[in-house]
Amino acid sequence: MNASAAVAAAVVPAAGRGERLGPGAPKALRELGGVPLLVHAVRALARSRAVGLVVVAAPADGVAEVVALLDSHGLDGKDIRVVAGGATRQESVRLGLAAIPAEVEIVLVHDAARPLVPVEVVDAVAAAVRAGAGAVVPAVPLADTVKRVEPNPGRPEPVLDTPDRATLRAVQTPQGFDRTTLVGVHAKALAEEAAGAADAPPVTDDAGLVERYGGQVVVVPGHEEAFKVTRPLDLVLAEAVLARRRAADAY
Ligand code: C5P
Repeated sequence: MNASAAVAAAVVPAAGRGERLGPGAPKALRELGGVPLLVHAVRALARSRAVGLVVVAAPADGVAEVVALLDSHGLDGKDIRVVAGGATRQESVRLGLAAIPAEVEIVLVHDAARPLVPVEVVDAVAAAVRAGAGAVVPAVPLADTVKRVEPNPGRPEPVLDTPDRATLRAVQTPQGFDRTTLVGVHAKALAEEAAGAADAPPVTDDAGLVERYGGQVVVVPGHEEAFKVTRPLDLVLAEAVLARRRAADAY
């Protein structure tokens, strides 16, 4: 691997509406400590020496706005590009991947909705790919017991079983990939969709696509502060984490 191939590119899907957060701006543009979630997420990636390029997939009607936003927050030190995202997270990632130069061999995919991921997690994921893993996910053990149910919204739902909690992990981002592996599984998924194979269950992360096509995915330790901002309470928690960090930096 030559020097530029060893530097990772990161794709940030940021084109979601974020409806579970309540009405308002697209989720990536909601503010945390006066700064949009997306800016926090891009800064967290750019802080890693393992990352040389960040590609943001913005809402299709908001590309110019996102470019201006990133410029106004002084993120011009690293190579940061903005492309139009798609109708699904998967499509946004695929469009972001297409903007990465051919010589880049390591790709990270990071949700704009995880603004507070520590740089150590970004570094660890990139290092595991550099060491030879095809697909790497950061994850944390679960605090809650988990049950599988027969979904029956609005009614009591029958429990099917209780997986052994010791074998379960809650998966975060950035997820890291050998570029050829990730581009390959996205292309396969697109071809299947085009052929009308709609019976596969939806895949909610990129590593899930690698698993679907038989690839090996490994887990490295994630971090409790890399949680996803999905619901209003997550924003309250994120504000508290940020305030704690700012207080610690002041000393
Ligand atoms: O909806 P969810 O929280 O799972 O979204 C995860 C990430 O995928 C978010 O950063 C969101 O902006 C992004 N996304 C996207 N394009 C879509 C839908 C979601 O980039 N069409």
